[in-house]
Amino acid sequence: MIPASFDYLTADSVEQAIGLLKQHGDEAKLLAGGHSLLPMMKLRLARPNVLIDLRNVAGMRGIKTTARGLEIGALTTHAAVAQSTEVSAYAPLLAEAAAAVGDVQVRHCGTLGGSAAHADAAADEPAALLALEAQFEIAGASGVRTVAARDFFVDMFTTALGPNDVLTAVILPRAFPASAYAKLPHPASHYPVVGAACALAVSGGSIEGARIAITGVGSVPFRATHVEGLLAGIPVHDRKKMESLCAEAARGVEARSDAYAGAEYRVAMADVMAARAVLAAAERAR
Ligand SMILES: Cc1cc2nc3c(=O)[nH]c(=O)nc-3n(C[C@H](O)[C@H](O)[C@H](O)COP(=O)(O)OP(=O)(O)OC[C@H]3O[C@@H](n4cnc5c(N)ncnc54)[C@H](O)[C@@H]3O)c2cc1C
Repeated sequence: MIPASFDYLTADSVEQAIGLLKQHGDEAKLLAGGHSLLPMMKLRLARPNVLIDLRNVAGMRGIKTTARGLEIGALTTHAAVAQSTEVSAYAPLLAEAAAAVGDVQVRHCGTLGGSAAHADAAADEPAALLALEAQFEIAGASGVRTVAARDFFVDMFTTALGPNDVLTAVILPRAFPASAYAKLPHPASHYPVVGAACALAVSGGSIEGARIAITGVGSVPFRATHVEGLLAGIPVHDRKKMESLCAEAARGVEARSDAYAGAEYRVAMADVMAARAVLAAAERAR
């Protein structure tokens, strides 16, 4: 459990971080909260020769409302997201997903941007960001661009981030006060075996549009588009109907299997978690 030796550098600005990434190429890795990267280094699953610590970079931490929506700096910790009254009012599902991450230490060190950039197949916040149709602000050698959540999560541990890119912020363009997160946690690690994030748009007491994202089942979080379509037009007080329509939330997805949970179980739990998230979100709408 001792990592291979590495050089430790700090960046004071996004530009400096990008410059260091360019200088050191494949040898280098960015460090945020260190709560995914350092365990991987200790297990020698990652062996960067250079770590570039982002924690002194100004302007990459905090939560603010702008013309683009609610902007959350990539270095904002899970705990800060979970405790934010702005996030809880704007999109309670993201605050719930952040509060569901690991334990107190993990939540106070790990960051929202780190969780997104790491792209674990079973992570809480990426599902919430996918359901909330978040935008990811990425700074790279050729400037700043934004990438939609549906294009950001590419595969297990793979995102739209290029080798010299820094994820600087996550933007929630639209408020979803009627939203909720449901999670079946692994009893030891608390990682989601399966989690479901639901954001509802409600009009006149009925669901106008549902956005449901599932984590832990496939190699990336995915939208349960089949269920989303069925829920449109259903009154938010019709709990039985909403629950029954959450069947086959993982339709068409190749489910993962491991020693703790087989593919069939994960697929079944996707329906259960989707129903819990939808019912909780509908309750908030009422
Ligand atoms: C005991 C334990 C339990 C945990 N339980 C859970 C859980 O229940 N649910 C859950 O979702 N997660 C869980 N985690 C993971 C935790 O959420 C991590 O904090 C998170 O996955 C990574 O965030 P970080 O800031 O620690 O990133 P780091 O570990 O520092 O970095 C992770 C990766 O992202 C890259 N990166 C980081 N920031 C940026 C950036 N701004 N731009 C570009 N690349 C970047 C790094 O180079 C690295 O490759 C757990 C971790 C531990 C140790």
